[in-house]
Amino acid sequence: MSSHVRVDHATTSGTFSLDGETHEVENNVWVIGDDDECVVIDAPHDVEDILAVVAGRTVKAIIATHAHDDHVRVAPALRERVAAPILMHPADKEVWELTHPDFLWDVDLEDGQTIKVGGAALKVIHTPGHAPGAICLYVHDLGCVFTGDTLFQGGPGATGRSFSDADLIVESIRTRLLDLPDETVVHTGHGPDTTIGAERAGLS
Ligand SMILES: [Zn+2]
Repeated sequence: MSSHVRVDHATTSGTFSLDGETHEVENNVWVIGDDDECVVIDAPHDVEDILAVVAGRTVKAIIATHAHDDHVRVAPALRERVAAPILMHPADKEVWELTHPDFLWDVDLEDGQTIKVGGAALKVIHTPGHAPGAICLYVHDLGCVFTGDTLFQGGPGATGRSFSDADLIVESIRTRLLDLPDETVVHTGHGPDTTIGAERAGLS
């Protein structure tokens, strides 16, 4: 008999670098699981901050919403500590190599696959645009979706830098996210939560 699946959260501070510019950023780290096991969504800046949220549970996977350095910087170091595989969409290979030329991720994510943890199923939705391999994770049982930098409170993620595509991110959001129920809570890669209903209103 397993305990209830829940979402735990931390914000970590650090930097995001791309195209020769570096910015100070705060990132959300999301941990989904029960009392025994969990998965970690994104590994931004600090392994200890993430381990504090994991709180001794078995980590089944480290899932990257995309390969920008403020989402995968400590993924290999976290992998060392918790002995869990790093899961990423292979379309972000070039982006990943900017940060980790000497390490690979472990398992390719595929659109439509499900990742199970603590009795809940996380469905992978490939949403290219912010990055070629950007993915969202929809958890029907919890009524929420983890959107990384694809969808924020207030609209789509940034597309002004290399590897991004402004038309594609809007198409991804319209065709892959806006068909989720209005009340679906959106847990983002940076900043506050929103809902699919609130963002649909802003996009139409
Ligand atoms: Zn990003």
